[in-house]
Amino acid sequence: MSAHYDVVIVGGGIAGLSIASTLAGRCSVALIEAEQTLAYHTSARSARQLIPSYGPPVVQELTVRTLDLIAAQDAERPEPVLTPRSFMLIGDDATVRAEASGHMHRISHAEALELCPALVPDSFSAAGLDTGSFACNAPVLLEDHRRRAEAGGVDIITGARVHSAQRLGTGWELGAGQEGFQSAVVVNAAGAWADELAVLSGVEKLGLQPYRRTAAIVDVENPLPEACPMVAAADDSFYFRPDNGQVLISPAEHVPSGPEDARPYPGDIERLIARLNAITTLGIRGVRTAWTGLRTEAADGVPVMGFDAEATGFFWLAGQGGYGFQTSSGIAELAAGLILAGQGSAAASAVPPTRDASPASRTAEALAATRWSIRR
Ligand SMILES: Cc1cc2nc3c(=O)[nH]c(=O)nc-3n(C[C@H](O)[C@H](O)[C@H](O)COP(=O)(O)OP(=O)(O)OC[C@H]3O[C@@H](n4cnc5c(N)ncnc54)[C@H](O)[C@@H]3O)c2cc1C
Repeated sequence: MSAHYDVVIVGGGIAGLSIASTLAGRCSVALIEAEQTLAYHTSARSARQLIPSYGPPVVQELTVRTLDLIAAQDAERPEPVLTPRSFMLIGDDATVRAEASGHMHRISHAEALELCPALVPDSFSAAGLDTGSFACNAPVLLEDHRRRAEAGGVDIITGARVHSAQRLGTGWELGAGQEGFQSAVVVNAAGAWADELAVLSGVEKLGLQPYRRTAAIVDVENPLPEACPMVAAADDSFYFRPDNGQVLISPAEHVPSGPEDARPYPGDIERLIARLNAITTLGIRGVRTAWTGLRTEAADGVPVMGFDAEATGFFWLAGQGGYGFQTSSGIAELAAGLILAGQGSAAASAVPPTRDASPASRTAEALAATRWSIRR
């Protein structure tokens, strides 16, 4: 016997949990997660920063909306999710200018050194500052989504990998662990496994590519002031920020990977430590902990959100890349609107129709849905 729901969400990371809490109480929902714990994969491994100037324009708009939504809920939370922390880019004139956006303004070399006194002065010649950026308490945000979802009646099932999915009449039949689930809509929030889930559902994959990225917490001789911004190289070769007396560092690598429980590669962090010890006065002494996650991207680097054009009831919520937290609530709001309106509804049909069946066209349609909805 299968359990019946309006919507089954596959994946219990930030994408799955945020759409679950947004749909809670508005329709019947189950969320199925393969691991025993929610947010075991990339959503437990981020740098926990929300940066309005980071990413292409649609991502920047979704980030601003996400910040508004999280801030509104922070008023009700005992512990806030958001803490102001600026984001500073350093590099040369050309690289900083290339990354400039409406959310980032140029600052002088002297101003940059005042904000981050650990930088060796001749290690950069130009800087930009995004003062609308926030540190994100990711565990509190994830737990808050879980709590809101369950309070709104969402059934959350962990330790159950979806191993089969097929169209059945007007809906879907999924097998996960020993259980069966039927629903009108399947939400693919499977992160690095999103294309795998599509294939096992008989849906054409979109060519989503996971890329590994590592971060570490290191001990330093000269701690950064807690007010120091997150500092990133404009050529995307590293970033670092204060972390409760230690420093979080990342080599910002972008290396293709299969979907897996990613682990740091030997040498990545050691090479970054040597570089940071040359261009800062941090004096990095050792690594406390290091981790690697998978940033999964569509070919054009923009998240994929919308009903699949060919597979009725199959909804993509994937390809968030390095923006999964900063776009989470904004994307969930749009996704919930489309799901509740239903495939073929006025909202969905306002998207230009797909002209061919190629995976790229489905991505385009999903992205068009995002862009169309957000500009409405
Ligand atoms: C080092 C690093 C730093 C980052 N920093 C930031 C940052 O500062 N700000 C930001 O916004 N983003 C950041 N990101 C990106 C962000 O972490 C991701 O975009 C986000 O976590 C992706 O969430 P997700 O829910 O899509 O994927 P995941 O968290 O990976 O969740 C997908 C889930 O689906 C489950 N699943 C897969 N297949 C199945 C199946 N068949 N059945 C059941 N369950 C299944 C998996 O077990 C997994 O738990 C960073 C990423 C990395 C690696």
